Amino acid sequence: MTTKNTQTHTCPCDPQNSYQLCCQPLHLNETAAKSPEQLMRSRYSAFVKQEYDYLIATHHPRYLNGLTANDLAHGAPQQWIGLQIIAAPTQQNNQGQVTFKAWYKTADSSKARFDAIFECSDFILENGFWFYTQGVQFDCPMPERNQHCICQSGKKYKKCCLATL
Ligand SMILES: [Zn+2]
Ligand SMILES: [Zn+2]
Repeated sequence: MTTKNTQTHTCPCDPQNSYQLCCQPLHLNETAAKSPEQLMRSRYSAFVKQEYDYLIATHHPRYLNGLTANDLAHGAPQQWIGLQIIAAPTQQNNQGQVTFKAWYKTADSSKARFDAIFECSDFILENGFWFYTQGVQFDCPMPERNQHCICQSGKKYKKCCLATL
């Protein structure tokens, strides 16, 4: 199963932005991320757009541990829902951290549900380029029915994605 993004002009990292103006220039190597948050957003969008080579290229080689684009293509969730940046991203000199929830839809034992990668990621700046190094993952609580939807639509969860399950 592949991701079907019907709104091809919307950036996966932020439905208020167009892909052409947001993450696509990074995926095309036309520009480089200027902050850990921008790199993190572009890496989320790269998962959605299945730009696995970009994910490898922006993962610091010392931290890859043999990970390949092929591993990502087979191991990553296929149906992404949305990205929430949780903590205000920090950046000091050549290092930065971003805490985020990357929501996806999954089906185990035939029942569809949402889950998220809830992670605090570390980034370093080297030779003018930001790289993802590693992250610490946490258990992710499900949103409350009346909270903002995980897809960043601005609607309530119960009126939006929860209603699609
Ligand atoms: Zn974007
Ligand atoms: Zn939604």
